[in-house]
Amino acid sequence: MTEKILIVEDERTLLETLEYNLRRQGYEVETADNGVDALAAARTKRPDMIVLDIMLPGIDGFEVCRILRQEMNTPILMLTARDDEIDRVVGLEVGADDYLTKPFSMRELMARIKALLRRVRLIREEMTQPPAGQALTPTYTYKNLTLDTSRRELKVNNLVVPLKPKEYELLLFLAQHRGQVISREYILEKVWGWDYIGDSRTVDVHIRWLREKIESNPAEPTRIITVRGAGYRFEG
Ligand code: CA
Repeated sequence: MTEKILIVEDERTLLETLEYNLRRQGYEVETADNGVDALAAARTKRPDMIVLDIMLPGIDGFEVCRILRQEMNTPILMLTARDDEIDRVVGLEVGADDYLTKPFSMRELMARIKALLRRVRLIREEMTQPPAGQALTPTYTYKNLTLDTSRRELKVNNLVVPLKPKEYELLLFLAQHRGQVISREYILEKVWGWDYIGDSRTVDVHIRWLREKIESNPAEPTRIITVRGAGYRFEG
């Protein structure tokens, strides 16, 4: 089945270049060059993923992403022009799945798109085909924290705490390696995938969000411990 990608970009030349390259890779492509059209296209064309520029006429990419997040879980890769946009892009308010800083190479973009689409396929498969033998979908409990892998759900003090897909995968990975020191690079490789071209800052940002959700005092974490110069350790 051909995967459909919606590209939202107001720079004509870049939009056309992206469209051309994605089509050549075998993807079906929809385009929009402003925020209003982007929302309409996302709702009516139902793309498998969205490549979204931040600086757009009318409604900007931040706002488009924030609105779409409330309506669908279609993965969104944002194109940022400045480093200081990154925290907002992947932050709770906007909640993009990934980002790429301009200028980027086509190879880089393709790798990110493939990684995101593969992740979506894996999650879909996991949900439609539960593995035989329930040992593979255990529930992890650590004091007031419960991670139910059959429902992909985190509860803190018996209350469901919403997690973004990546936060869930990261927390599960940490929980599965409880007590071990894991390097940022290893986390990046295992949770984001070997072809993810990001830096370890991505891991740090996600750890920070997880701490805000599971630590009683995120400034002095007792669950996800930073091991100086080595990585992180999850304390069960
Ligand atoms: Ca733009």
